[in-house]
Amino acid sequence: HKYVYDFAEGNKDQKDLLGGKGANLAEMTNLGLPVPPGFTITTEACKAYLATGEEPAGLAGQIAAHLAALERAMGKRLGDPADPLLVSVRSGAKFSMPGMMDTVLNVGLNDRSVVGLAAQAGGNERFAWDSYRRLIQMFGKTVCDVPGEEFEHALDDAKRAKGATTDLDLDADDLRGLVDAFKRIFSKHTGREFPQEPREQLDLAIRAVFESWNAERAVVYRRQERIPADLGTAVNVVTMVFGNLGPDSGTGVAFTRDPASGLQGIYGDYLANAQGEDVVAGIRNTVPLQELERIDKKSYDELLGFMARLEEHYKDLCDIEFTIERGKLWMLQTRVGKRTAAAAFVIAGQLVDEGLIDLDEALHRVNGAQLAQLMFPRFQLDHEFQPVAKGIGASPGAAVGKVVFTSARAVELAAEGEPVILVRRETNPDDLNGMIASKGILTSRGGKTSHAAVVARGMGKTCVSGADELDINIPQREFTVAGQTVNEGDVVSIDGTTGKVYLGEVPVMPSEVVQYFEGSLDPEHIDNPLVKAVHRIMTHADAKRRLVVRTNADTAADAARARRFGAQGIGLCRTEHMFLGDRRELVERLILARDETERDNALAALLPLQRADFVEIFREMDGLPVTVRLIDPPLHEFLPPLEQLAVNVAVAQERGEDVAKEEALLAAVRRMHEQNPMLGLRGVRLGLVIPGLFAMQVRAITEAAVECARNGVTPRPEIMVPLVGAVQELETVRAEAERIIAEVTREQPVEVLIGTMIEVPRAALTAGQIAEAAQFFSFGTNDLTQMGWGFSRDDVEGAFFWRYLELGIFGISPFESIDAEGVGRLVRIATEEGRAARPGLKLGVCGEHGGDPESVHFFHEVGLDYVSCSPFRVPVARLEAGRAGV
Ligand code: PEP
Ligand code: MG
Repeated sequence: HKYVYDFAEGNKDQKDLLGGKGANLAEMTNLGLPVPPGFTITTEACKAYLATGEEPAGLAGQIAAHLAALERAMGKRLGDPADPLLVSVRSGAKFSMPGMMDTVLNVGLNDRSVVGLAAQAGGNERFAWDSYRRLIQMFGKTVCDVPGEEFEHALDDAKRAKGATTDLDLDADDLRGLVDAFKRIFSKHTGREFPQEPREQLDLAIRAVFESWNAERAVVYRRQERIPADLGTAVNVVTMVFGNLGPDSGTGVAFTRDPASGLQGIYGDYLANAQGEDVVAGIRNTVPLQELERIDKKSYDELLGFMARLEEHYKDLCDIEFTIERGKLWMLQTRVGKRTAAAAFVIAGQLVDEGLIDLDEALHRVNGAQLAQLMFPRFQLDHEFQPVAKGIGASPGAAVGKVVFTSARAVELAAEGEPVILVRRETNPDDLNGMIASKGILTSRGGKTSHAAVVARGMGKTCVSGADELDINIPQREFTVAGQTVNEGDVVSIDGTTGKVYLGEVPVMPSEVVQYFEGSLDPEHIDNPLVKAVHRIMTHADAKRRLVVRTNADTAADAARARRFGAQGIGLCRTEHMFLGDRRELVERLILARDETERDNALAALLPLQRADFVEIFREMDGLPVTVRLIDPPLHEFLPPLEQLAVNVAVAQERGEDVAKEEALLAAVRRMHEQNPMLGLRGVRLGLVIPGLFAMQVRAITEAAVECARNGVTPRPEIMVPLVGAVQELETVRAEAERIIAEVTREQPVEVLIGTMIEVPRAALTAGQIAEAAQFFSFGTNDLTQMGWGFSRDDVEGAFFWRYLELGIFGISPFESIDAEGVGRLVRIATEEGRAARPGLKLGVCGEHGGDPESVHFFHEVGLDYVSCSPFRVPVARLEAGRAGV
């Protein structure tokens, strides 16, 4: 089994085996860039070690062979007293886990080689002893679990004794003394002397890196970032180069483009006479990378040349770590760099212009989640606002409101029309009503999978979690941050994308990308690189996608907006809102009707109102299909709540008023009360139970279509029956509908399709039969998920999903992203059996999943014809459908 690879043996595509760092070091080595020589121990070796607690057979010999080759290449021996080879031992997993695992530098130093190192460094004793004390400190802490503070205290003592303010004020003698102190600390805690044998140092360091895969912080980070727990880390053993050998040495980081904006230019930081850890620790201030041109022009020019080569080679933004040792540039790391959503689009567009990638590849460089981020409203931060705290951007958006500390107060203030921000240490299911009432949620504890974060994302509500600078005092109704006290009622602004918290009201504006989709920014005539890139990539996505994108809209205004956003029709027009507002009274009359005449009168009064709604929508969607769904929710949802009604009746009776009507209503509400209304009298069942209700809706739709057709509009109505579980239900509704359609379209022909939702598991399982009676299917994956899992969609998110996420039972709510294996299987079965029974059956999805990036790929793969989603999600669905199509 090969466990060790020389850098020259690997390449960038071996991240599984060599980890990201190792694979890229190998790639740079093979490109001929100056990488300090070294080798990588594979993730396989790590996994074998973690499984058994012992190095796998053969590993020690392979390390010895590679070390010998390294020594030959460098002309030095590890820890040689006269001229030592020193190495760093660095972790590096497949996915970057910054700072979560261990690294040990300067391995190979001991009481004798420290002298050789000083000689090698031109007699720089200070440098040699400083390197040695760093080894004991890092090795002690990471390999042998010696408490880090003890070393820090000893260092502070040495500085105090000397009257020194920084480490740099300590001279060689001070550091020699410190090495002795560190060794004493080491032996006190470990019961042994600091190991002087270089190979033993190396083996123990490698073992420690393996073990750091399971360090608590690494485990937490992986869970947070959804990185699988069984990948293991590779270990890189790299020849040490020193950036701290004097003013002609230094270390820095560089990006080949700006990771924030994506724009070209020179981005990075440099620190002269320092090692990488000094940069991270922020001991001294770095200078902008451009300064390096003045400090060391040769290295600077060389670096820029390497950066250009790396970009050309990786065809993407790269970030780089480098060190200059006495005027010689060394490349220590590179990888395809992380970037903001805006930069992702801008860079993809630029790389196409530069001929490095084509538009198909550009589509793969961006995603719908990034586009969605670019569509959130944003704070206009061009003036005085400074954040007072920074937490985790748990659910994106920009929210402004008055601070409240309890759910009850949130509900109270919101009822008065005030925007509120609910501030809690952490939330729990009792806070649900307050969260619903708030514009945003701010907590001082918890990460991306905390209750607050999960519930807020489920609601599409802005949330900043884990802002631990906030000192929250719930009984006092105040919090303090940055020396200021914020009371209930004070205004704060929270940014759920960046996690930043501001005091006061920060102005909010629609993003440029939304302005572009709205049609108010013309990409041909403005100079905004982001809008231009979005335009170009969206145009290509549209050209490449097979899936049609429709929208869920039930008002003319939503329909119009969605059409501007690129919707190619309406996939779900819910008709229930058409029964609200002033029309409630008509619904009451319908429910209370004592005979056929009263009922027919109530329906007749609703008819023209519904017809007018449909006329408006057909007009906005001129020429495009509009799927209208017959009424779905239980009728009592249109009546006042039971308790309120009971109180009203009692009060009125008390006053001696005539309450005959209210009593009748109350009796009806009692009669219609259901324990599980979502499993009760709703959807097609209403149509079968209440004579004339569906007929009225079918008539309104068809008459509206006829009226539009007479006025030069092209209506394409599709009538959809909800909650069907058996073909007989659909056949009954359909027979009546066809009669009405034939009658209404006698003089002005309009084609009206009749289809059904597939949202009850039984419908999916009997799709072959149902297809005989349906011209189209639309998957209602909200109900299909609810009934497939047996999760009440109205309750679970706040009640227990956070726990399911914490336990990893699922990685994301199945209401957010389709559960491909379970609920998705129902979709697949219904697709196959439906099409087998009726070739050409039109298939779409109109549950929330229609706008979810991952789900869109699933629906593409299953072979649906279209997805339908809320207007704001239409661009996201277009983009993802395009990505699925290339
Ligand atoms: C569904 O169930 O997925 C659906 C679209 O219908 P509703 O959300 O209105 O129940
Ligand atoms: Mg439904």
